[in-house]
Amino acid sequence: PAAMLSCPFLSHLPSGLIQSRPWSLLRFAQRCPVIGKHIQRAMTAGVEESTQSQRHQQPPPPPPMSEKKCPFLSGRLAASDAAVCGLSPPSECPYSRMAGRPLTVCCMDEQQAAPMPAEPLVPQAEPPNLYNYKARCEAQLQRKRDDHSYRVFRKVNRRGPSFPLAEEHTGGRKDITVWCSNDYLGMSWHPVVQEAVIEAARQHGVGSGGTRNISGNTIHHEALEAELADWHGKEAALLFTSCYVANEATLYTLGQLVPGLVFLSDAGNHASMIHGIRTSNCRKIIFPHNNVARLRQELLKLPLDSPKLVAFETVHSMTGDISPLAELCSLTRQFGGLSYVDEVHAVGMYGAAGAGVGERDGCLAGMDLISGTLGKAIGNIGGYVAGDATVIDAVRSYASGFIFTTSLPPTVLAGARASLAVLRSVEGAELRQRHQAAVQLLREALLSRGLPVIPAPSHIIPLHVGDPRVAQAISEHMMHRCGAYIQAINYPTVARGDERLRLAPTPHHTEPMIVRLADQLADAFRLIGPHLLRSDGLESAAADPPPSLQQLVVAA
Ligand code: PLP
Repeated sequence: PAAMLSCPFLSHLPSGLIQSRPWSLLRFAQRCPVIGKHIQRAMTAGVEESTQSQRHQQPPPPPPMSEKKCPFLSGRLAASDAAVCGLSPPSECPYSRMAGRPLTVCCMDEQQAAPMPAEPLVPQAEPPNLYNYKARCEAQLQRKRDDHSYRVFRKVNRRGPSFPLAEEHTGGRKDITVWCSNDYLGMSWHPVVQEAVIEAARQHGVGSGGTRNISGNTIHHEALEAELADWHGKEAALLFTSCYVANEATLYTLGQLVPGLVFLSDAGNHASMIHGIRTSNCRKIIFPHNNVARLRQELLKLPLDSPKLVAFETVHSMTGDISPLAELCSLTRQFGGLSYVDEVHAVGMYGAAGAGVGERDGCLAGMDLISGTLGKAIGNIGGYVAGDATVIDAVRSYASGFIFTTSLPPTVLAGARASLAVLRSVEGAELRQRHQAAVQLLREALLSRGLPVIPAPSHIIPLHVGDPRVAQAISEHMMHRCGAYIQAINYPTVARGDERLRLAPTPHHTEPMIVRLADQLADAFRLIGPHLLRSDGLESAAADPPPSLQQLVVAA
């Protein structure tokens, strides 16, 4: 009610306006504490009124009137602001009377008061001296075009039932075979997985509806977490929307939770781990890729009782090499550290039940935290971390990247659960066996044709090129002439000079397909990068030293 308003301007405004449209006065509230208080009161009352209309509250008593509180006298409002107050003669202004002098700014006749012009939200014309964001972005893009690292995505629609066949839609429709997918075992189209996804969509719909805390937690989440924990021989697991998020959020959060934590990070680590470690602002020591001796040297420099975390991958995504897991883990334990092992390219692929290199090498117990993805061999999307229940609960409770995002939907969870069940079964073991056979066949076929295969013990077969234009040209040739999709990998995924083609055959690539591909690649290299071919075949290509890992690390 107007009576409660001690501010002369507010008391001259229709109280209905203040109550029904208090936000129209917000502009003044920013500068005048009296107006601000009243508007806040009016807005709060509005909310309370609409939600609790039965409750009759007494308004708080008005603050005592004093000259100090008049926004005009205190100079907080400009004369032009008085226009909207609609005050008539100065005699009506209590503050004016108290001050003993007329307040001209308050004396504006209602008729004179011009309506306040609406402030334009965007400038009408762009003044020439404003920062030109677009030009800056264009310049940065041009840098990428100049060094041939500008990325153009292919439009490839995979054909589920005839995996690994697909259609390429970049310049008209073309039938192709995919040779570079991380759907390593073809689980994205497995009939059991598809059925589970369709059934989940029918039963629960396709979205999760919220964060885990707000209506986004289901029995599928908890069941999948329990299954993943069991797979890795750990007490608990926590799902994230991707393993990028899992790595980044977990490492960052541990850095915040453990005072004085020192990160020892492998030089070949994925960008997600690098980013989590970097943003934690903890001390970090980078040791050369998979170098146990150098890690030992670094650990020796740290007090035994200080907290430390050693982070590395088992299967490296770009070199295809596999870390000395047992040694790295036992060294970490010996020095009182926590091991954080990224098994992204290994889950589903190695070990009797497919739990990764940790299972294959009998190291699960020595690995403190394991991160994995649902997006590669498991054929869905999402990521997770598994480990000690208390540590996982702490990450669950503090990690922003877990808490404040919509949870994985039921379709994905059901698909991942179905896929996991297959991968843990005899069928999964057979798939892995066939997969390894396909990898070996392709590697040998490439080497025997003198192609520059980078030696690696895993399922990832990199072909060294060393020039982004040559890599791109070979990739284009293979796509358009041979219908084979092999992605060129350029900076910043690998260092400049280490550009390559990365092959990842699946159990569904047949022997004739593999032989044909090797022939076609040999032709492409002869045509486009003859200097890269080895005349002496398998022996010398295998002896060719791989590029240094230091150079392969994403420049981040
Ligand atoms: N860790 C490694 C080693 C990766 O190569 C990748 C990505 O491909 C990730 C983590 C991120 O996994 P996701 O694709 O689930 O985000």
